[in-house]
Amino acid sequence: MNANNNNLPHVVVLATGGTIAGTGASDTQMTGYQAGALGVEVLLEAVPALKQVANITGEEIASIDSKDMTEEIMLKLSCRCNELLAQDDVAGIVITHGTDTMEETGYFLHLTVHSDKPVVLTGSMRPATAISADGPANLYNAVKLAVASEAKGRGVMIAMNDEIFSARDVVKSNTENLATFATPNGAKLGIMAGGKPRFYTQLLRKHTVDSEFFVNKDTVLPKVFIIYSHAGEKGEMAEAAVEKGAKGIVYAGMGMGSVHQASEAVLIKAAQQGIAVVRSTRSYSGIVEAGLPQWTEAGFIHSDTLPPNKARILLQLGLLSTNRPAELQRMFLEY
Ligand code: ASP
Repeated sequence: MNANNNNLPHVVVLATGGTIAGTGASDTQMTGYQAGALGVEVLLEAVPALKQVANITGEEIASIDSKDMTEEIMLKLSCRCNELLAQDDVAGIVITHGTDTMEETGYFLHLTVHSDKPVVLTGSMRPATAISADGPANLYNAVKLAVASEAKGRGVMIAMNDEIFSARDVVKSNTENLATFATPNGAKLGIMAGGKPRFYTQLLRKHTVDSEFFVNKDTVLPKVFIIYSHAGEKGEMAEAAVEKGAKGIVYAGMGMGSVHQASEAVLIKAAQQGIAVVRSTRSYSGIVEAGLPQWTEAGFIHSDTLPPNKARILLQLGLLSTNRPAELQRMFLEY
């Protein structure tokens, strides 16, 4: 599908794979199918109505199951988005992506794409070959959102199941339900109704054009591990992270980011050695605040409302310029 109607806006669809491009052996196969099997042209041809919405060009950035997402692919996507959005003739970008790591890629782009033009991620929960596949409607809505003037300046968005989410606040909340995306710490931005976006809330944290984070194709993201807290902890995971050369550790603590005493001493020592330690939570929702005095004195950073996987992304980007806890903490309160 190439640009040929001059009156329509130009949207670029960047494909990365996922269930939206997945195929099963039959129309009833909804698990165990192959994600990322179909090319971008096949996805676009499945939605002929897109020809009335935009002049679309498709590009394949990757064709993977998003469980296998890499930092290299995320960097490639970010660079391509920045390149394309700098072109006057490109109105917006839609990225087709697996749902498993959509929130991480979305947040990475939210912080590293410097444009107010819409960038919309979408995918599906059912493979393209399934009865009532949700991919085509999601793709249609995503393109409609990408060409809408009201969508400008809202940061990177996720359009799934007739809903619009900010990449900062969205999480995948369910393994199989079509309404899997949720915002446990905020509100969704809006809904798609009759092919048009209706916005009801606005994100107040910094992103895109106001972001201080810049990456390029040669950027090497610092090594940051996530440690999931649990009863019976012995501190070995924290020790292993230090041994493996971590520049940062995100500790998915209990409740309000509480640290098991078995790991506390190891993490305090790591912080004293200049490794950034961020306390997040294994709870589904809620804020993580400063907490106990020994954590603050050690220079632990608290994640605010970012879950561990997004805290890791922000920490990696922050560590590109500083490992000073006060500076990193400022970032966690601003983004
Ligand atoms: N495993 C798939 C993926 O993330 C799931 C999906 O797309 O819904 O690529």
